[in-house]
Amino acid sequence: MAKIWVVGGGIAGIGLSHTLRSRGAEVFFTDDQKAGGSSRAAAGIINPVTGKRFVKSWRFDEFFPFARLFYQEMETFLGGSIWQEKAITRLLRTPEEINDWSVRCTQPDYQALIGDVEEVGEWSTLLNPGFKAAAILGAARVNFQHLIAAYHHRAQQEGWYEKKSVDLTQLPETIKKYDAVVLCEGYLASNNVYFPDLPWQLAKGEALIVAIDGEKAASINSMLKKTHTLVPLGNGRFWSGGTYQWHYPDAEPSDGEKSTLVRQLEEVLAVPYRIEAQWAGVRPSVKDRRPFVGESPVLKRLFMFNGLGTKGALLAPYWANHLADHLLENKPLDPLVDVQRVFSKNL
Ligand SMILES: Cc1cc2nc3c(=O)[nH]c(=O)nc-3n(C[C@H](O)[C@H](O)[C@H](O)COP(=O)(O)OP(=O)(O)OC[C@H]3O[C@@H](n4cnc5c(N)ncnc54)[C@H](O)[C@@H]3O)c2cc1C
Repeated sequence: MAKIWVVGGGIAGIGLSHTLRSRGAEVFFTDDQKAGGSSRAAAGIINPVTGKRFVKSWRFDEFFPFARLFYQEMETFLGGSIWQEKAITRLLRTPEEINDWSVRCTQPDYQALIGDVEEVGEWSTLLNPGFKAAAILGAARVNFQHLIAAYHHRAQQEGWYEKKSVDLTQLPETIKKYDAVVLCEGYLASNNVYFPDLPWQLAKGEALIVAIDGEKAASINSMLKKTHTLVPLGNGRFWSGGTYQWHYPDAEPSDGEKSTLVRQLEEVLAVPYRIEAQWAGVRPSVKDRRPFVGESPVLKRLFMFNGLGTKGALLAPYWANHLADHLLENKPLDPLVDVQRVFSKNL
């Protein structure tokens, strides 16, 4: 039985530990829950159609069923609600946006995923006038906050989890006790000497948790997206965000980003709201927008699973399974995600 240590307990670390354990490996799992963890701040949205031109996400049709199966299995394993398939109400305002959307609707590849432009539906009484809307149907939300808390709790109870900061300078010694060590450090990997000079493009993001009174807000089911996104959490509470910052002094919530979030929210929202919390995290994004999966060029049996960028909810289950194939069955890594794509270029 392979003995593997997974360091980092965001969605990458959880995705990998669960996959390895369900395939028979002996897994130890460590996380320090430091400020800036991306998964804990995230909305957990899986959106098939993104960007200004509404382009379908990379290999969406392949990754989505994988994600659904994984998170539904996590619900069975942990209890509580983790996976919800729900539509996104995509707000459209300018004639160009409406035109681009209408063109997409005619393309066969998009027809099961997006609906025609129409009036704003269930959100209409909460929003400023002047918007049209269209439904994104093939979307989902992963409740990362519950998943992380419940997974750490379960692993702790069963004795294979430790909450601590791993001193990476000790790795050349400690790695001898394992068949492999996999670092799932999120943005903190940008300082990792075992995977030097990777082309990171880290993006800090912040979000608010807001509450809106009244039955209308409490009964909203779909997520809402313009530049700003609102995700219903139940009982009139919403995840509201997020921002993108490429230069930032620390990973903590900031007053500057709070003002940006309030301004963006009020561009769409017409009703009063209360701010209940502010969250911040740093997205482990990569210049070529592909994950980093693979072995260190300087320490054998030390691996990385990272670079999930803005799409951890969709990508983590598939690539965790891919890395498990490599670790447990010695299958080759896809060169598109293999971290060697960077090191071989630098030779
Ligand atoms: C505001 C915001 C909104 C987002 N919304 C979405 C969304 O809607 N949908 C989506 O798919 N993605 C979203 N993302 C992106 C998503 O959060 C990331 O893709 C994903 O969570 C990255 O997960 P990870 O496990 O790689 O990193 P993290 O979640 O950052 O986890 C890394 C963990 O490793 C721990 N760690 C690091 N070093 C050590 C060490 N030496 N010892 C012990 N522990 C260590 C860290 O403390 C942390 O807990 C969002 C991100 C932000 C910031």
